[in-house]
Amino acid sequence: MADIEVIPVGGYNEFGRNMTVVRYGDKAVIIDMGINLDRILIHEDAVFESLSPNDLQDMGAIPDDSVMGDVDAEVVAIVLSHGHLDHIGAVEKLAAKYGCPIIGTPFTMKLVENSLNDDFGPDIDLPNEMVAMNTGGRRQLKGPLELEFVHMTHSIVQTAMPVIHTPEGAVVYACDFKMDNFPVIGSKPDYERLEELGMEGVRALVCESTNAHEETKTPSETIARDLLKDHMLGLRDERSGLVITTFSSHTQRLKSIIEFADELDRKVMLMGRSLHNYTTTAEEVGLLNLPDNVEVWKYGREINKQLKRVMNEGKEDYLLCVTGHQGEENALLTRMAKDETPWTFEQDDQVIFSARTIPNPSNEAQRYRLEERLKMKGARIIKGAHVSGHASREDHRELFSMLEPDHIFPAHGDIEHQSQLADLAEHHGWRLGEEVHIMRNGQRKTLPR
Ligand SMILES: [Zn+2]
Repeated sequence: MADIEVIPVGGYNEFGRNMTVVRYGDKAVIIDMGINLDRILIHEDAVFESLSPNDLQDMGAIPDDSVMGDVDAEVVAIVLSHGHLDHIGAVEKLAAKYGCPIIGTPFTMKLVENSLNDDFGPDIDLPNEMVAMNTGGRRQLKGPLELEFVHMTHSIVQTAMPVIHTPEGAVVYACDFKMDNFPVIGSKPDYERLEELGMEGVRALVCESTNAHEETKTPSETIARDLLKDHMLGLRDERSGLVITTFSSHTQRLKSIIEFADELDRKVMLMGRSLHNYTTTAEEVGLLNLPDNVEVWKYGREINKQLKRVMNEGKEDYLLCVTGHQGEENALLTRMAKDETPWTFEQDDQVIFSARTIPNPSNEAQRYRLEERLKMKGARIIKGAHVSGHASREDHRELFSMLEPDHIFPAHGDIEHQSQLADLAEHHGWRLGEEVHIMRNGQRKTLPR
C-alpha cells in the first residue's frame, strides 16, 4: 500500500491563493488554484491578465507551485471546491502545465470558462478537459483515486466539499464552508453523508480556520435576508433614491434583494462588470431566475445612460444594486459618490451596505472616504445586513465530531488563525504535531501508517 501525503501549496501563510495537493503513491490531485487579490491591488499598476505566472508568484498573488517539481507523481485532476477567486482565480495561469481534467460544480466551471473568455483580455485556451460534476456525484480518477463532491453551504452557490478517496481512506477538504441549515438557495449541508464518511474512515481533514476564533455558530443566510428585509422595507421614506451594494458573487443575497425590491414596487438595476458576470452565470446554470423588473448592465457607457434615465424618470421607481462595497476607487458606487456619473446623491437617498468591510487598512480607508462623501451629500447609510460565509468554532466542532478524522490540517490564514483551530482540535483529543499539523506553504507531510 502507498502513503498519503498532504502538500500545502498556497493559503497556509496568508488568506488567499489557496492550493493544496493530495498525493497517493504516484498519483496526485490538486485542490483549488486561487489568487490573493490583496497582492494584486497593492501593485496598483499591475494588470493580472498580462503578468506571467512567475511574476505573479513573486508578488505572492498566485500559489508558488515550485514544490511540485519535487513531487514524484502524476497530477490526475485539478479539483475546484467553489467559485470564489481565492479558490479558482489562478486556474488560467497554472492549470495548463498539468494538462489534467479540471473538475468543479456546474456554476464553478461556468465561472472558470467565462473568465477565460472575458472580453477584457485575450481569450485563453486551456488544454485541460473541463468537467462539471454536481454535489452528491462521484468520479473515478486515473489510478486508484476517486473524487466525491459532498453538498456544502457557503457564501457562493454550488459549493462542494471535495473528498479524495484512496485505498487507505479518505481525505476531506473543508475550504470554505459554513453549516447553513436555512440557506436562501439550495439545501442544507449533506450531514448524513458526512457522518457516513466518518464511519467509513477519514484519514485527513484539511479545514479552513478563518473564523475558528469566533465562539459561536455562524448565522444562517436567512438572518441576513431578514435584516435586508428590515432595512429595505422598514424605512418610512419611500420616495428617495435607494442604492444597495453587496458581494457580486453572492447570488443568495442578490435573490433576496431582488425579491424585496418587488415588494417595494421598484425596478432593479444590477450595475457593474462583476455583478453582470456572476448573475448571468447563475442564470445560465438555472440557479437564478431574473424577473422582468430586473435589468443587468455591464459597461460604463451603458450604465451612464441608464443612470441618466433613472434621474429623469424618478429615483423612487428604481433600486440600484451596484459594485463597490469596499469603497474601491474605480467601482461604480465610488464614482457615483464622486459625481463622475450622471447620478446625483441627494438629501435622504439611502445607501444599504450588505457586506462587511474586509479588515485591512487600505479597505478601511477606502470605505471611510466613500462613507464620508455619501454623508456630505446627505445620504442615509444603513449597514449590518450581512452574515459571514465561514464556519465558526461551533461549526468546526460539529464537523470534527461527524468526520472524526485521523489527522487535521488547519488551512487559510496565518499561524494565528490556524492555531485557533488546532487549539479546538487539541481540546477534543487530537495532539499538535502528532495528529494536528500546522503547515507553511511548500512544506510536505506524509501521514504515518
Ligand atoms: Zn470562499
